Amino acid sequence: MLSRRLTRERRTVLAMIRLYCRDHHKTQGSLCPQCDGLRDYVQRRLDRCVFGGKKPTCAKCPVHCYAPDPRKQIKVVMRYAGPRMPLRHPFLALAHVIDGRRKAPSLPQC
Ligand code: SF4
Ligand SMILES: [Zn+2]
Repeated sequence: MLSRRLTRERRTVLAMIRLYCRDHHKTQGSLCPQCDGLRDYVQRRLDRCVFGGKKPTCAKCPVHCYAPDPRKQIKVVMRYAGPRMPLRHPFLALAHVIDGRRKAPSLPQC
């Protein structure tokens, strides 16, 4: 089962991708195939995040588990949706700012 933190982060990323897709790809209530693929990729990364519920925000992560292309794509989405989030999703935006202050915990030794 996902922690509350990861569940919230999934909601935040989905809200940002929706915002971006609606404004750039003229979708209403659903995602275009490209953005849906990105959503799926990001959510799989979150599900497998090595930090679990104690993760930092991905932008401040020392590991950066994303492949180069989706990393570039999500940066474009965040740059667009980030400044618009406080108006559209104030709770998620505030929580993301607070999460951004967290430091990444040490990784477990193998
Ligand atoms: S980038 Fe870092 S914080 Fe984000 S999912 Fe990957 S390992 Fe976790
Ligand atoms: Zn789209």
